[in-house]
Amino acid sequence: MDSVSFPYDAPVSQTLFDRASLVTPGGVNSPVRAFRAVGGTPRFMVSGTGPYLTDADGREYVDLVCSWGPMILGHAHPEVTAAVQEAVARGTSFGTPGEGEVALAEEIVARVAPVEQVRLVSSGTEATMSAIRLARGFTGRAKVIKFAGCYHGHVDALLAAAGSGVATFGLPDTPGVTGAQAGDTIVLPYNDEDAVRAAFRAHPGEIACVITEASPGNMGVVPPLPGFNQSLKDVCAENGALYISDEVMTGFRTSKAGWFGVDGVVPDLMTFGKVMGGGFPAAAFGGRADVMGHLAPAGPVYQAGTLSGNPVATAAGLAQLRLLDDAAYEKVDAVSAAVRGLVTDALAKEGVAHRLQSASNMFSVFFTDGEVRDYEDAKRQEAFRFNAFFHSMLSQGVYLPPSAFESWFVSTAHDDAAVERIAAALPAAARAAAEATA
Ligand code: PLP
Repeated sequence: MDSVSFPYDAPVSQTLFDRASLVTPGGVNSPVRAFRAVGGTPRFMVSGTGPYLTDADGREYVDLVCSWGPMILGHAHPEVTAAVQEAVARGTSFGTPGEGEVALAEEIVARVAPVEQVRLVSSGTEATMSAIRLARGFTGRAKVIKFAGCYHGHVDALLAAAGSGVATFGLPDTPGVTGAQAGDTIVLPYNDEDAVRAAFRAHPGEIACVITEASPGNMGVVPPLPGFNQSLKDVCAENGALYISDEVMTGFRTSKAGWFGVDGVVPDLMTFGKVMGGGFPAAAFGGRADVMGHLAPAGPVYQAGTLSGNPVATAAGLAQLRLLDDAAYEKVDAVSAAVRGLVTDALAKEGVAHRLQSASNMFSVFFTDGEVRDYEDAKRQEAFRFNAFFHSMLSQGVYLPPSAFESWFVSTAHDDAAVERIAAALPAAARAAAEATA
């Protein structure tokens, strides 16, 4: 099939962006949506169907962002939409318990064995923030270990050397986070077991928890080395600390049981978001019942939310999770493998040094020769080549994350026609990457 090419300017998006920039900082409500790293004007999307997004200028794109992970069934899946419509018709928020929350919690507990109890919240940030508070309350200790390049939402204590937008824009540390808020955070290089053991030796009896992305996707995709997650679990167990696996991105995406379903390492606490909300604001944290029992009102650690377990969000999440059976994951894995193969073939053909890394169906391309094991490796890539590649793909109707430091996402809705469009766009994009200069 011929490459689908579009005129490159986007006048309606530009007008919307100009309006947005007057009333919203940087014109966007989340920095990762901006095009600052790649240049140009962000596309304002008006609708999505299956694997496609349509922007305000009427142009269609194959979507390889999938709302940064949640849309694993594609956009406007009829059964999810119907569940949402039914829920909306019954009322949108009651501020009381409801059956949908119970059913969603039961679904999570049934899928992810280490989760004995779960608390629903509205964003991944809330989930990690609450999990950290609970770990501190449970252990009576203050210090938290996190890894450079891992992103756990914009929690004050976890923004140090964070991935995602913080990595994309090369921000050092964030003004507004005080020394007191960050002072108990120990930042270590990812995949470095020795550094973790050394930190525990240096701070005996002080470390409440280690939090890690189950398989990081916020510095690009950098999977844990074999045995790394188990070593975190072991060192935590030996030292009376909790092992928190952040599955906001990987949860219910990398398998039916998320990354736990891939590596089987049993965390004390886990965090979830994205896929479990079906495109609505729903997230969760859960784990060992004896630890979760410390949460209010059962225990003394306070945590709450007006819209937690919102009936519309839980209906969407539940409908999505119930559709995610073995066949659905086989489909997502197969699409991911096909796209990965096409990308690497196109870049190799143009002689572009690159490394395509994947973790189950999550993947990203680093414009570098060597293996990427941590954030320092990720930063060594030639990001200017990504920017040329990104804009070529965009101009041909393929929407990639506007950053060299983010995972790409596919869905069950990415059919042969969508994959063919990607294939048609890749040769020119690979050429653009080859010809790019810093
Ligand atoms: N944790 C991880 C691993 C994430 O990828 C993200 C968001 O990208 C978060 C936490 C924060 O989630 P949210 O953006 O819903 O606050």
